Amino acid sequence: MNNLRYYINKALNEHFALGAINFNNMESLQGIKNACKNLSSPAIISVSEGALSYMGDDFVMALSSACKKEYPYLFLHLDHGKSFEVCKKAVDLGFDSVMIDGSALPFEENIKLTKQVCDYAHQKDVLVEGELGQIKGIEDNVSSDFEHFTNPQSAKEFVEKTGVDTLAIAIGTSHGAYKYKGEQTLRFDILEKIESILPNFPLVLHGASTVDEYLVNQINQFGGNLTHAIGIPKALLQKAVKEHNIIKINTDTDLRLAMTAQVRKVLEEKPEEFDPRKYLGPGREEITKVVEDKILNIFFSKDKI
Ligand SMILES: [Zn+2]
Repeated sequence: MNNLRYYINKALNEHFALGAINFNNMESLQGIKNACKNLSSPAIISVSEGALSYMGDDFVMALSSACKKEYPYLFLHLDHGKSFEVCKKAVDLGFDSVMIDGSALPFEENIKLTKQVCDYAHQKDVLVEGELGQIKGIEDNVSSDFEHFTNPQSAKEFVEKTGVDTLAIAIGTSHGAYKYKGEQTLRFDILEKIESILPNFPLVLHGASTVDEYLVNQINQFGGNLTHAIGIPKALLQKAVKEHNIIKINTDTDLRLAMTAQVRKVLEEKPEEFDPRKYLGPGREEITKVVEDKILNIFFSKDKI
């Protein structure tokens, strides 16, 4: 069985991405697993600090190991760890990789914290993702009102001084379902500078949900109220994967939309229904569809196991 490092290198060489897909319960994880299994795609299954406390450490590990037993090409990752302690806990629990997000700290402090996590995690062969620059939006306990694009020169210094395995960069993606007010663009000029200074280094995009209109419309049609929800256009993500060194694409919002759309639909259409399997089941199927679409059209990770 190849490890996560193998798939990161493979993604870099073959220009595909590993979907880093967040889960919060059994149904969402099964939905992700089914999509990956159907299309023979490797992927990263992520839990945020919030999801870890929602499910509890033991349930996260049990769900993940049940999942890997059925389909082993899934790697458990801590999304947006904010402290050395939570990263250490994830490493000790047996995660494949952890993210230490020191992006809100001053540069030198971010380096210090990230290096501390790397020194610990690498002893146990666990990979570490760092973040430099700030990504807008709100996701669980991670929020930022403003955006600082990643400085390419600082990125090189950061990677060299910390020893991170992958780096999350800020080039215009954002967390949540409301990603743009104006023009939908990504700063490919900054990405190119980073790649010229840090050649062949695996980069990560957070906040990369596409917020597909049909899901938003379905939610609104069945009693929801999501106005001005807008995501990253598919074409920009395709370009980032096909022509650049983006090897990990984080997706959470789109799965939340998929689950919510189906739950709302079933409960509205069948008000007599009260068996949770009857609405969570369709939610799980919708998640599978959404993830399959991403594997085929954004991650390009079909048949890459
Ligand atoms: Zn993120």
